[in-house]
Amino acid sequence: MAGFQAAKSCVLLSRNSLLRSKCHQRLRVLKVKRWLSCSSYSLGSSYDYDLAVIGGGSGGLACAKEAAGFDKKVIVLDYVDPSPQGTKWGLGGTCVNVGCIPKKLLHHASLLRESMHDAKHYGWQVPDEVHLSWSTLVGGIQGHVKSLNWGHRVQLKDKNVEYVNGKGSFIDEHTVKVKMKDGKETQLSAANIVLATGGRPKYPDKVPGAMEYGITSDDIFSLKTPPGRSLVIGGSYVALECAGFLHGLGFPTTVMVRSICLRGFDQQMSRLVTDHMEASGIQFLWQQVPENVAKNQDGSLNVKWRSGQGQEGQGEFDTVMFAVGRQPETTQLGLDNTRIQLSAGGKVIESEEQSPVSHIHAIGDILEGGIELTPVAIRAGKLLAQRLFGQGTERMDYEQVATTVFTPLEYSSVGLSEELAIERYGEKHIEVYHAFYKPLEYAVSNRSAEQCYIKAVCQAEGSQRIIGLHITGPGAGEIMQGFALAVKMGASYNQLSSTVGIHPTCAEEVVKLHITKRSGLDPTVTGC
Ligand code: FAD
Ligand code: NDP
Repeated sequence: MAGFQAAKSCVLLSRNSLLRSKCHQRLRVLKVKRWLSCSSYSLGSSYDYDLAVIGGGSGGLACAKEAAGFDKKVIVLDYVDPSPQGTKWGLGGTCVNVGCIPKKLLHHASLLRESMHDAKHYGWQVPDEVHLSWSTLVGGIQGHVKSLNWGHRVQLKDKNVEYVNGKGSFIDEHTVKVKMKDGKETQLSAANIVLATGGRPKYPDKVPGAMEYGITSDDIFSLKTPPGRSLVIGGSYVALECAGFLHGLGFPTTVMVRSICLRGFDQQMSRLVTDHMEASGIQFLWQQVPENVAKNQDGSLNVKWRSGQGQEGQGEFDTVMFAVGRQPETTQLGLDNTRIQLSAGGKVIESEEQSPVSHIHAIGDILEGGIELTPVAIRAGKLLAQRLFGQGTERMDYEQVATTVFTPLEYSSVGLSEELAIERYGEKHIEVYHAFYKPLEYAVSNRSAEQCYIKAVCQAEGSQRIIGLHITGPGAGEIMQGFALAVKMGASYNQLSSTVGIHPTCAEEVVKLHITKRSGLDPTVTGC
């Protein structure tokens, strides 16, 4: 009780940053002490907790908070192993610390530079040379991230969810070992256990120097010094987004792609994204793989690479970032002590979110067949808690989940790519409406709109249901969210085209789509 009062008064003082950091530490000590001394908890069952969540990221926190709302005794374990470069962070998981949040803020920072360029055309007297203070940028972003870490702790406290900064692994199907930072170990038992341990970036096998000198997305958002000449290796979301903001912030940037970019996405749209990046000055090394990373005497990095045809190349960089995919965090969970099965890629297999062990469930990035996005992990976590402790029966629907690639020219999509629609329904059953458009804001500043494009992939018959919608352009993510609702509700092309636009916006170009690909007509739209 005394501990709870002390913790509560800490929360009240949270606006003062000095007190906040002291309070932070005190709260943590009280919490861990209280938790360690609490060997069993009266629940009317033989377990310490109704629910133990392993992993305090997007999915785990959402599940824990929702479960606590049903008056359940809940504990969250969250622990971050430092990256090979020694980077570590606080509560909240990938999105908050080394994913969506710092990424979007760096994306925004890089777009500001473009805006400064445009501003001159609108009459603002912006100096020709503008300079970036990397430390101010990273400091501001990390300050925000820390406020989110703190906010998550406060929310857990408010909902009476216990939080322990410890690493969980199974002893048996109801018992979890918790290893604290200082090496101390303890145990807890729970009626239900949710696995939400997310993933971590991979390094490639057999590339000497990769792990020693290369960084990943775990490190890029808190680098102490500006990245300088940057090589980003990989061709998917993380690689293109990071390359995009690095270039936008003024660092010479190269992307090494071993095959295609944005695998799984509509490839016409993917090409528009990379064409835009290339046109803006980002260098692409296509169909190349890294062979070796070595440190030069001056501290710069020498990278050797090779093409599929065996041709070799090399270059000097200050930062080499690997964005070659993510490894699910399941190897240290002691799953051998359970009946939980893993896929070849190390993700947890549940058929239709139905675990082979009825009280152990997985959500978020570690779930085989899921989608690695924050809102997906959050929704899956909430729905799971409602099924476990409420009257809920709804399962996560992984269809028609909208997503945005935050490259300098954003690309947002929902539903099927054109390729997948053709594969699924046959070419003659698909009608694609498309348009190249020019955002009005680009006009005065003479920005190229060559890659601003929209396409709606529709069924050819009947009212022409929209089964895929794709947009490249400024603020594509903001535009897509509302249309994603319509697509999820089964909107047809007829309904889309009977919707009156909002003028002058980019979004109105979606409802104005009228040229089909099949017609072969020029899809470039002009003016009002
Ligand atoms: P996580 O958020 O990864 O949380 C898992 C937590 O569990 C971590 O804190 C981990 O350290 C901890 N943990 C692991 N093992 C243990 C253990 N044994 N015991 C205790 N704790 C453990 N998604 C979007 O929707 N939009 C974006 O813009 C976006 N941008 C991204 C940018 C980058 C660079 C990256 C890498 C990802 C991005 N994502 C984005 C994806 C998003 O971050 C993830 O889908 C989301 O965080 C997954 O949530 P989760 O709960 O599954 O796992
Ligand atoms: P992905 O697994 O999507 O892509 C990995 C990339 O690395 C591919 O281009 C792959 O090429 C390449 N690659 C793999 N191994 C090697 C190698 N040995 N050498 C060279 N290249 C290699 O991983 P990401 O980390 O980009 O993204 C993970 C997930 O995180 C995404 O699927 C997404 O769900 C989520 N995310 C979401 C974001 C958002 O919402 N905006 C942003 C960032 C991440 P190949 O195609 O040839 O296999």
